[in-house]
Amino acid sequence: MAQTNGFMDAAFAEALAAGERGEVPIGAVVVRDGQIIGRGGNETRAANDVTAHAEILAIRRAAAAVGDERLIEADLYVTLEPCTMCAAAISFARIRRLYYAARDIKGGAVESGVRFYAQPTCHHAPEVYSGIRETEASAMLRGFFEARREA
Ligand SMILES: [Zn+2]
Repeated sequence: MAQTNGFMDAAFAEALAAGERGEVPIGAVVVRDGQIIGRGGNETRAANDVTAHAEILAIRRAAAAVGDERLIEADLYVTLEPCTMCAAAISFARIRRLYYAARDIKGGAVESGVRFYAQPTCHHAPEVYSGIRETEASAMLRGFFEARREA
């Protein structure tokens, strides 16, 4: 298992905060030189914006913080396998390493679905490390959706 130096904890904290706001509990952080330079939790409901996924928000904030659209030498930590949109954004931002917790068979695009980074049209693929605290991340999502069904 890959060492994540507590950065996955920070992504989980963003996911929990998103869940408390009534959003799908997914969180992400972007890290460069040992520092978190962008954070995000899902905000699609609050923002009425289907693109407001945790990874997109973390990338936007990191890019704004460093003043560069490309996040060379930066790593992204997220609690769930990125979707097609986020996998593309991670590629376009030139993220160096992608760490994610749970696999998303229904909506993921890294090892599931379109396998974005394996396509010839993908011009930058990050190194991928998956399965970090997978059980915990899956349980958090399952609990959220079960609670919504009961409500
Ligand atoms: Zn996404």
